[in-house]
Amino acid sequence: MSQEYPLYVILLGAPGAGKGTQALHISKTLGVAHVSSGDLFRAVRESDTELGRLVKSYYDKGALVPDDVTIRMILERLRQPDCVTGCLLDGFPRTMEQAQALDAALKPQAKRVDKVIYLHVSESELLRRLSGRWLCRNCGASYHTVSAPPKQEGACDLCGGALYQRPDDTLETAKSRLEVYFRQTLPLIDYYMQQGKLSQVNGGQSIEAVEHAMSGALRS
Ligand code: ADP
Ligand code: AMP
Repeated sequence: MSQEYPLYVILLGAPGAGKGTQALHISKTLGVAHVSSGDLFRAVRESDTELGRLVKSYYDKGALVPDDVTIRMILERLRQPDCVTGCLLDGFPRTMEQAQALDAALKPQAKRVDKVIYLHVSESELLRRLSGRWLCRNCGASYHTVSAPPKQEGACDLCGGALYQRPDDTLETAKSRLEVYFRQTLPLIDYYMQQGKLSQVNGGQSIEAVEHAMSGALRS
């Protein structure tokens, strides 16, 4: 899909809704960079720095990293050259304060959030997906023991990297991440709906069916 103006699209949905899985294809279709706040925090969390330790203390218990830290990190990422023509945001914004900070940062550049795709998935399916998720340590591709198994156990189909399970995907931490999502992120649905930017997609379908529905929503 080509566009004549910068294109900023948000993928909104609970942990496990399939944002990362879909972002791989959709960012290529749109021709924009995929910006995942979770991926950025995973990289920082590994570092032996004050910021790394701060991020780890929130991340590992399934809590949101404070808004000021998150907003600074994302706005810095959006200033990189590959985001000048737009990007696909995955996992950000997650609070009203983050959504308003994003709008305020884009406005002076005559840019805006163009579209928000809300992936809706039932709570029981979210927990099933999170508890069976495996990620590639090298490229971040997402797999599932039942729904999307890799061709060879423990290895990424795309790059051969080793697969691992996230420490925050245990049932207990996944449940508290969903609580955080319902409390802090769900209000964003109304925020973007009132602006006429939100399209809801049934994320409970197969990966291919969700991809098809999302492409349709992006064209609408
Ligand atoms: P998110 O980025 O929203 O947290 P992921 O894309 O990592 O979610 O997907 C969570 C888990 O669910 C992964 O194990 C992934 O393979 C699996 N998954 C993603 N989309 C679907 C789908 N449509 N049907 C079944 N499983 C899916
Ligand atoms: P995710 O990979 O999107 O599930 O995010 C993993 C973790 O990173 C979350 O549980 C938070 O600790 C942190 N995180 C990711 N995105 C945000 C955000 N927008 N605001 C605050 N914390 C975030």
